[in-house]
Amino acid sequence: MQENNFNQRIIEWHAIHGRKTLPWQMDKTLYRTWVSEVMLQQTQVATVIPYFNKFMRSFPTLDYLANAPIDEVLHHWTGLGYYARARNLHKAAQTIRDQFNGKFPEEFDDVIALSGVGRSTAGAILSLTLGKNFAILDGNVKRVLTRHQTIEGWTGEKRVENQLWELAESLTPAKQANIFNQAMMDMGAMLCTRSKPKCGECPVSDDCLGLKSNTMTSYPTPKAKKKIPVKSAVMLVFCEDGKAIHLKQRPPVGIWGGLWCFPEFEDIEAAESHLENQNIGEYKKTELNTFRHTFSHYHFDITPILIEVKQQDASQVMEDSGALWYNLQHPQKIGLAAATKKILSTVNKILN
Ligand code: SF4
Repeated sequence: MQENNFNQRIIEWHAIHGRKTLPWQMDKTLYRTWVSEVMLQQTQVATVIPYFNKFMRSFPTLDYLANAPIDEVLHHWTGLGYYARARNLHKAAQTIRDQFNGKFPEEFDDVIALSGVGRSTAGAILSLTLGKNFAILDGNVKRVLTRHQTIEGWTGEKRVENQLWELAESLTPAKQANIFNQAMMDMGAMLCTRSKPKCGECPVSDDCLGLKSNTMTSYPTPKAKKKIPVKSAVMLVFCEDGKAIHLKQRPPVGIWGGLWCFPEFEDIEAAESHLENQNIGEYKKTELNTFRHTFSHYHFDITPILIEVKQQDASQVMEDSGALWYNLQHPQKIGLAAATKKILSTVNKILN
């Protein structure tokens, strides 16, 4: 493919159409590129921009991030999803502070050893910031390459992944890896989109095998679907005098690790027996609609039960140090699980 100037055509397209003024492309540093790449791992550019800007205002340098409490970092991540990314970012910042004197490492092996940094992210950080000659293979690049070369098989499969890495490396030009990598990401996001790719505007359409066979949207081959299980839970939403909601911090590992949620029970009976043991005087109970939150590996059906208690009874609810009363008028800066946000907004509607 190299003889066909695949990379040259992509680079020329980028010179005219590529994105060059994204917030992390301004004042480029390893730190800023790293944060943006981690945010972009599972999230679209348009969604990431406001999160990135806010993150940089609060944590302008690596030191700020390393020294911040994890709760504050998770708070900035609320709504972006895939919270392990935030926890890894925080952990890696502390590693850099403690092992590299706070200076972001520039060697590939050191970068890839950081928490949450894989081969593609390490390549992106070093090539986009320093122009080093490393290939990348993110979702956009995978889509362009599998379509252009009609590469069969799920890209998470080792054999397919190896083939794609080999191809990406052979295409990445030694001197302009930074531009080529950015151009490939832009091409995948702007032209070679998941559905309805704009092949008419594509600089590599002449030799695109996917286009030639009109099979482009069958690539990348999706992972064989398996049915995911359904789990369910009841959550008790204690509300004190319409002003504060009782939240508990979840353990650091597992779903919504480290985020704040409601006390959770297997079923209504378990929730009711917990309620009886609380010794609360009077309360008003309202069962809210069950809703479904879907994780990658299971559906989670949640039934929230709102328990409105009087101020004098609230102390009966608070049970351990990993809990707090979340002030509805002046919310604390803590990371909220997606389900917590949804339930809080329903409760707000009921109370107001
Ligand atoms: S021609 Fe179409 S399918 Fe092929 S790489 Fe370009 S945008 Fe993607």
